[in-house]
Amino acid sequence: MISINQDAKRGTVVARRKSRDSAEDLIPEKPSLSSLKEAAADCRACDLWERGTQTVFGEGGRRAKVMFIGEQPGNEEDLQGKPFVGPAGRLLDEALEQAGIDRRQAYVTNVVKHFKWEARGKRRIHKKPNSSEIDACRPWIEAEIAFVDDLKKIAGIL
Ligand code: SF4
Repeated sequence: MISINQDAKRGTVVARRKSRDSAEDLIPEKPSLSSLKEAAADCRACDLWERGTQTVFGEGGRRAKVMFIGEQPGNEEDLQGKPFVGPAGRLLDEALEQAGIDRRQAYVTNVVKHFKWEARGKRRIHKKPNSSEIDACRPWIEAEIAFVDDLKKIAGIL
């Protein structure tokens, strides 16, 4: 969807892709993890896609016993396109090891799938997603929760 905005200061017309309000329309009818991931890669349901390098979708198997849900991908996750591979991922790995849980039995994901950040010098600093961004992204996390058959526990790591 394209919207045309008038830039009053410069008197120019700026064409800008308008985001939808929710990712709901993008959820495949009979979703598999790969079809969800593929559909999420093109999500434009909020403006965060413009700042992030890529959609960072969840990872894990349908038989996962536990799901860990973070707030949003961080700098490393954004660059690699994988959840929990940065400092939070290392912490999670340590915690899983101490708890005797094999990471392959876990599904890891985030509430919001694009990295929201602000520049501080050369660094990209995490910025908290707002409620409309969380709402727009909610269909993805709901689809992931529905996807995992054997889910016994959901743990939030926010
Ligand atoms: S943050 Fe979520 S809703 Fe927003 S563009 Fe990314 S995947 Fe879509």
